[in-house]
Amino acid sequence: MLRVDLGAIAANYRDLAALCPPANCAAAVKANAYGLGLEPVAAALAGAGCDTFFVAHLAEARQLRAILPKVTIYVLGGLPAGAAALYAKANLRPVLGSLGEIDEWRNFAAATAATAAPAAALHVDTGFNRLGLDQSDVAHLAGNPDRLAGINIALIMSHLACADTPAHRLNEAQRAAFEAARARLPGAPASLAGSGGIYLGPAYHFDLVRPGIGLFGGAVAGHASRPVARLDATVLQIRDISAGDTIGYGATHTFKRDSRVAIISLGYADGLLRCLGGRRAAGAVFIGDFRAPIVGRISMDLTAIDITGLPADSVGRGAMVEVIGPHQTIDEIAAAAGTISYEILTSLGSRYTRLYSAANHDL
Ligand SMILES: *Cc1c(COP(=O)(O)O)cnc(C)c1O
Repeated sequence: MLRVDLGAIAANYRDLAALCPPANCAAAVKANAYGLGLEPVAAALAGAGCDTFFVAHLAEARQLRAILPKVTIYVLGGLPAGAAALYAKANLRPVLGSLGEIDEWRNFAAATAATAAPAAALHVDTGFNRLGLDQSDVAHLAGNPDRLAGINIALIMSHLACADTPAHRLNEAQRAAFEAARARLPGAPASLAGSGGIYLGPAYHFDLVRPGIGLFGGAVAGHASRPVARLDATVLQIRDISAGDTIGYGATHTFKRDSRVAIISLGYADGLLRCLGGRRAAGAVFIGDFRAPIVGRISMDLTAIDITGLPADSVGRGAMVEVIGPHQTIDEIAAAAGTISYEILTSLGSRYTRLYSAANHDL
């Protein structure tokens, strides 16, 4: 069962937004709001005052528009060929990152009799080398302003590569490159910072910040946010195992002593990353304060945990086991798996019950 604390998400939003005035605070809710559920999460953020959202795909944007008719929605993936009418119909703003996308949006604007020029963002690449207009594109636009005629440029944005490493030299280099690009483009509100950029300070805030992970319980460069997710699994079976026996696929784990294991109803298909099992320094889950190491390989639907140290009969069929919660944050389980909190959240499975609480119950 995955419990999502919408009150904690709203409180994280208010805390981050309070760091940024006069900049407005948007929210990045791509990938199903980082695995937590787009609709309830976005509704909670809107309730906390968020009026601007960033998603990656058109389909995500349409899902969001269906529940929030008034907010501003930017689609980071840009404008796929032929999709302009779909964007306009749902009042979505593409984040344009190439001259080809700009041409398509401008041509669409010219061909429709809309009274207001359709809004879009321009994405400038300042050193990430992922999406966005490069320096020669910006120079071209500066010399050929007609290329942007009829487009309402509502935002100029870029994205930082190393914002979680405050001392990295690329931060200031990207900030300076962003200022230089802005100076060559039509005047428009600007946005550079996600969660990490917020903590780099006011020089990085511009007009709009767009955090994601800092809303959803992840720590950014040592700045913790409130936990918002708790993931529990159910014990399906307890078994006693003799010294010398093995467990699981590949028989990777041999018990050195007589042991008790619990089989829990959660596997890699649910987001318990397979790399947490099948090795000596395996990950763990918690039963109360007791740390139960994962033994053997994690299966698709099932995982074995060693509970030998617990008093017999203290755990039975149906007992709940904490995977993510007060004893194991998303950053801690990510570190055990050799990954980042973002991947833990976006790997959360789709087949357990998601319970949404408005208030901070027992997290
Ligand atoms: C995902 C994303 C964000 C949010 O990043 P966090 O590190 O989760 O705060 C902001 N901007 C862009 C372009 C993104 O892709």
